[in-house]
Amino acid sequence: MQGGTEPAGVAPAASAGRSAPDADAGPPRTAAKQDVLVSFRRVEKTYDGRTNVVQSLDLDILRGEFLTLLGPSGSGKTTTLMMLAGFEVPTAGEILLDGRSLASVPPHKRSMGMVFQNYALFPHMTVAENLAYPLRRRGMPKAEVQAALQRAVAMVKLTGLEQRYPAQLSGGQQQRVAVARALIFQPALVLMDEPLGALDKNLREQMQLELKHLHAQLGATIVYVTHDQSGALTMSNRIAVFHDGVIQQLASPEEIYERPLNSFVANFIGENNALPGRIEATASATCRVRLDSGEIIEALRINPGADGRTLVSIRPERLRLAADAPSGVNRLHATVQETIYFGDHLRLHAEVGGTPVMLKLPLVQAADLTPGAAVTLAVDPAHCRALDPGV
Ligand code: ADP
Ligand code: MG
Repeated sequence: MQGGTEPAGVAPAASAGRSAPDADAGPPRTAAKQDVLVSFRRVEKTYDGRTNVVQSLDLDILRGEFLTLLGPSGSGKTTTLMMLAGFEVPTAGEILLDGRSLASVPPHKRSMGMVFQNYALFPHMTVAENLAYPLRRRGMPKAEVQAALQRAVAMVKLTGLEQRYPAQLSGGQQQRVAVARALIFQPALVLMDEPLGALDKNLREQMQLELKHLHAQLGATIVYVTHDQSGALTMSNRIAVFHDGVIQQLASPEEIYERPLNSFVANFIGENNALPGRIEATASATCRVRLDSGEIIEALRINPGADGRTLVSIRPERLRLAADAPSGVNRLHATVQETIYFGDHLRLHAEVGGTPVMLKLPLVQAADLTPGAAVTLAVDPAHCRALDPGV
């Protein structure tokens, strides 16, 4: 490693399952060259010759990381992954693997493991035959195939089911076979496109944890595509948030959630309160915002519009009832709309000058929270982010 430098905010995750929260809040520095496995350089893709569904994409994928491409449907995630796999050709730009251009390398020579949402197993082959297939195709001797098979089956907890056919397996088991088949030849790079999309919630969450553990065990680089932000937060070392073919932010889950750089990211990841207002005064890193409700609050100046319009982003758990608020925090006058019992916490829906806000509160609250009651909310300026006014 060059001069012992490490990319900030990123754990090359062979050992760590996930990057530690970084004290350094700045954007990741350019990674040392040898840490980069894949580079997208100014990659563009258009299918119809008019609109770019991927726009001038620059992206370094680090060796050993679990990188999630996260965004709404149609934002260009699958196209990006297919260009890496070699099933789609970039309209412009280039993709490098280990520093070498992939332009003339056909998909089957790229040695990437792949799992897709509907990546059908061969129905006429047993689990064992499905798993052995990629190894046989690579000409692996029979004895080695057997050993690899046992390892793979154990890895995805399917030992004993080797002789079953896909139709004799549950959806979750079939998906495990697909994962095992992608990993069995120990590829350095594994691509997954919504691999858990067809599973119900419990199974999906269980498989997300298993994938995370597998990743930690194997040390492979995983590029994972999904529109489901919950899985992305739990599994990834880094998340690239896609919108309209452009990466909006690329950072650790903590960074993306706690320090979104624009309103799209703030809204797409987790729950968000967005209070519209106008910048009245700015200091270097902070600003004073007059909310449309008339109230004034202090916020971090992140990305307000050129005309001073802004949406102030505040996570629900950062708002509290003001009884215990020290001075120096923002106060907002709100009207209770309803409370919802969530077992481990209470959600308070309220209104600040016509704008809905939501708080997550501990169950024990002395205040009167009946609908229509007036309450004062408190929030630290460090947790108020003045972002762009949205669309
Ligand atoms: P995502 O995976 O984020 O949902 P995609 O990469 O699949 O997004 O699609 C991005 C855009 O490209 C969408 O508008 C989609 O309709 C379009 N698109 C994807 N694949 C094709 C294709 N083979 N031919 C034409 N348009 C496509
Ligand atoms: Mg897709």
